[in-house]
Amino acid sequence: MKISLSRRDFLKISYISFLAGLTACRNLTITEEVPVTTATPKPTVTPSPTVTPSPTATAFQCSPNDEFYNRLLTLNGERYVTQVPDTLDFQKHAELSLNALTRCTNPDADYSVYFYGKVNRNPPILTDADVVPNPTSFNGKFSEAALMMRQISGSDFNQQVDQTWRVKFLRWLVQANPSLTGPDLGRLFAWMALLYKIEGDECYRQLGEKVIGQILLQSRLQDDYRYFPTENGAEPTDWEMVSHGWTLQGIAHFYEVTGFSPAESLGKEFARYLKDHSGMFDANGRFLYRHQREFGEVLHFHHNGNTLLSIAELAAITGDQELAGFARQGYEYARSVGSPLVGFFPEYVPDYPGQLPYADCETCCVADMVLLALYLTKAGQSDYWDDVDRYVRNQLVENQMAHGTWIDEYLANLPVSPVPEGATGDKVPERVIGSFSGWASANEYLIDMNQPLVSACCTGNGSRALYYVWQNMLNLDQGRLTVNLLFNRASRWADVNSFIPYEGRVDVHLKTECELEIRLPEWGAPEEASGVVNNTPVELSYSGRYARFGRLQRGDIATLTFPIIERTVDTQIGDRSYRLVIKGNDVVDIRPAGIWCPYYQRSHYRQPIAPLIELQRYVG
Ligand SMILES: [Zn+2]
Repeated sequence: MKISLSRRDFLKISYISFLAGLTACRNLTITEEVPVTTATPKPTVTPSPTVTPSPTATAFQCSPNDEFYNRLLTLNGERYVTQVPDTLDFQKHAELSLNALTRCTNPDADYSVYFYGKVNRNPPILTDADVVPNPTSFNGKFSEAALMMRQISGSDFNQQVDQTWRVKFLRWLVQANPSLTGPDLGRLFAWMALLYKIEGDECYRQLGEKVIGQILLQSRLQDDYRYFPTENGAEPTDWEMVSHGWTLQGIAHFYEVTGFSPAESLGKEFARYLKDHSGMFDANGRFLYRHQREFGEVLHFHHNGNTLLSIAELAAITGDQELAGFARQGYEYARSVGSPLVGFFPEYVPDYPGQLPYADCETCCVADMVLLALYLTKAGQSDYWDDVDRYVRNQLVENQMAHGTWIDEYLANLPVSPVPEGATGDKVPERVIGSFSGWASANEYLIDMNQPLVSACCTGNGSRALYYVWQNMLNLDQGRLTVNLLFNRASRWADVNSFIPYEGRVDVHLKTECELEIRLPEWGAPEEASGVVNNTPVELSYSGRYARFGRLQRGDIATLTFPIIERTVDTQIGDRSYRLVIKGNDVVDIRPAGIWCPYYQRSHYRQPIAPLIELQRYVG
């Protein structure tokens, strides 16, 4: 969501400040900071409180200490230099994200996140961060996304930034003993669950169990559903209702990694509230929640979409087919109001013709749809892998700003004006690289240069979508390696080298003995596909769209090839008409072309041979 006021107001309303000036991190070894702090380091003086175990906790009692708070995320996976096709690579996008996630921050206020930026002035500025340290201000989307991007890339770039966030949040969590609800704290609950999965420290689990206990205490059970009552004791409406979706996401991901059964029942009670009692959806999952704008009540895609996603995530994690089926109906509706061909989904559902000046694409909406398609596929509701493929290859990665030179070009004719108090104009065109657009069109980064240059919700959610696609594109289960999406990726089990869209070809370099199956994209015909193992042709069998290679050995190289062709499509995206050239699922040309940070500068993709590049791989 783009309403930073509600983010901060939510924190102010919900929580009491327990800590002040406790955020210095003493054990850092990384000093690659780019925004230069002028703050004097503060000593860490907090005593080490003992977490009271919940009734269901094991005998182990967590006693958070300085080592726990200050522990630096280790990135000691395997690194090696190799040649790969120069095609879409999550590692590169993760490194771009880390630039924006760590540099669009205020080092004088605990690296508080600049939520917005402006480019329609010279110099461009970043705004809406804390000016002085605020002990109860957190950006959960950035914390979680930074952790995820480091898992993909192995990068320690500016690691002191997310380390500062870690120390501050965990100290607050232990002392304040809160529930974790709403956008930032819900995501921080999911961040803690991911840390538990990575580090295996039981402290995270026990802290999470206490959070579940607080949520149970503060929420109300009615029949088979649960919600947080308003101050008047009523069922929530408006923003308080929407925030339940982020709370549910934290609960769902904590349950996923711990199997803590109260989290499962609690999550289903919240999901039933959102599905049947909140009024956000009709019986078929269509979006109903609107909020007030100057031109009337509008249907904000992401507020509804993220809530639907929270239901889908819980359904996939718990195997609840009733909830999953509902989310699938909602997904099909949401898919119909955007352009699934490229993954353009509008900030506002266009059911008010003439009232909105344009239909822009907010990355949060693209992320909602990528993740809905992914989780509904994992839940067994349908095979939406091609939806994921189209959304990621096109609107999602194009929405990520790859360079800032277009900003300098735009500024060339603007007079210089003073930087307002509380904002920064320092190196903004460099710092925003890697941000995901909040107001994109189908062909450029900003549909309206008067809209914000960055919107932190979009950078957090866009990065998170990248992570889950990266994580789920291949999987080893019971000796069978399944490759669902044909992107470049290194892993412990195999390295996938994709030549798409230059060539219809993918190489899988096996690192373990296993059965191998590779999913053919929707544009590849099984009868035209060929399999080769170590330069020897092999007979493929098929299970649905999956080409089966049989049992292969460590060191084998399996290659799947199939024809890839271009087609021209005339279509409407948002409220505008375009002519696209599409090769496989990749848009390789768009007309009319965009102007400011134009999309689909991909004429090289129309060549028949993929160039190879040398890079360092990281496998955590
Ligand atoms: Zn957004």
